[in-house]
Amino acid sequence: MEKIKMTTPLVEMDGDEMTRVLWGMIKEKLILPFVDLKTEYYDLGLLNRNATKDQVTVDAAHAARRLGVAVKCATITPNRQRMEEYPELTEMWKSPNGTIRAILDGTAFRSPIVLPCIKPVVKNWEKPITIARHAYGDMYKAVDMTTDEPGTATLTFRGESGAEKSLTVQTVNGPAVWQGQHNKDSSIRAFARSCFQYAIAQKQDLWFSTKDTIAKVYDGEFKRIFEEEYETSYKAEFEKLGITYFYTLIDDAVARVIRSSGGFIWALKNYDGDVMSDMVAAAFGSLAMMTSVLVSPDGIMEFEASHGTVTRHYYRYLKGEKTSTNPMATIFAWSGALKRRGELDNLPELTAFGRRLEEASLETLESGVMTKDLLPLVEPGFQARGVNSEEFLDAVAARLV
Ligand code: NAP
Ligand code: MG
Repeated sequence: MEKIKMTTPLVEMDGDEMTRVLWGMIKEKLILPFVDLKTEYYDLGLLNRNATKDQVTVDAAHAARRLGVAVKCATITPNRQRMEEYPELTEMWKSPNGTIRAILDGTAFRSPIVLPCIKPVVKNWEKPITIARHAYGDMYKAVDMTTDEPGTATLTFRGESGAEKSLTVQTVNGPAVWQGQHNKDSSIRAFARSCFQYAIAQKQDLWFSTKDTIAKVYDGEFKRIFEEEYETSYKAEFEKLGITYFYTLIDDAVARVIRSSGGFIWALKNYDGDVMSDMVAAAFGSLAMMTSVLVSPDGIMEFEASHGTVTRHYYRYLKGEKTSTNPMATIFAWSGALKRRGELDNLPELTAFGRRLEEASLETLESGVMTKDLLPLVEPGFQARGVNSEEFLDAVAARLV
């Protein structure tokens, strides 16, 4: 069989622990036999980040800027415990995802992989719900303080021009707690653009919700910027594709989401997205089945699994055990990147292969062959057999030839 040709490379960001092991297996069994793979390879494994003083992460992100499509393996974000585990670390390197997100100015979109034998907790959810969380500001960059006497707090902005704007927050007659929050127009706008870009790429409706009836100015700015971007840059394309941009209040959105059949993208402010993404993920089933795409305002996409490096399985693997780690989200990261590369480079065969890889993986699960994490989630009466990662990948590969 002739291998599918690529024209432009995609950026390959390797990672750590069990997902690094899966990464190699996925390439060997599911990609390389079928695709004449072209990648620019960056080793984001912790030891190489350390050896390069994290320059490799920055280089990888800039390569994604240049080439437009990337696929990333899960990586360790070092903490104090990891500093003890890896004594050679010269610094507690920052989260690679954070670094890449900052360079791409991107928004992460998380979606579950859904299949008939695993029903979501919400029984009318038939299609995936994709959550887009704004990842800058609000409560996450707030300053807080407590005070213990009667008095007045004011909010003052001092411009570089010397002009000042000030208002009273509140006068209190006893101890109180305070918080100062901000967001930036540029960040909200980048978030909006990423959302519209991704909705167009996915040909799905985009929902956005805030609490602008209460936070008239603050959330009102979010609403206004989204509307402005939609009207000036995306409306025509949305109408052409027959998709809609829908704004509603967060409480109304929550009620509608629960009653919906899914199949749309839900954009949320930082805190709302933090909360709702965990709720939606839990209702759809398993962390191992959540995929994630980082999308920049100009449409650069970096595909990855939502889960981490699955450390506990890695230690069992190091002892020689064959683990049953679920490779689905990492397979879908690869298929997503190949499909996007195919679309951008006008290579329908590559796009079709990405789709076929997804179908073969889903068919394998539907045939009852799955990693053990999914066994407790299948519908009653569904006959399923737990296999290890390698056996699962072999079963998918057998459907590809
Ligand atoms: P994790 O790697 O996602 O794993 C947490 C637990 O979830 C696992 O122990 C496992 O449960 C289950 N699980 C997750 N993915 C699975 C899969 N594919 N198949 C089967 N079970 C799966 O999270 P963590 O243990 O909190 O973090 C480990 C490392 O990953 C950390 O160093 C963290 O910094 C990093 N991390 C990286 C990213 C990223 O690169 N995007 C994201 C999150 C975390 P059982 O052990 O019960 O089987
Ligand atoms: Mg959360």
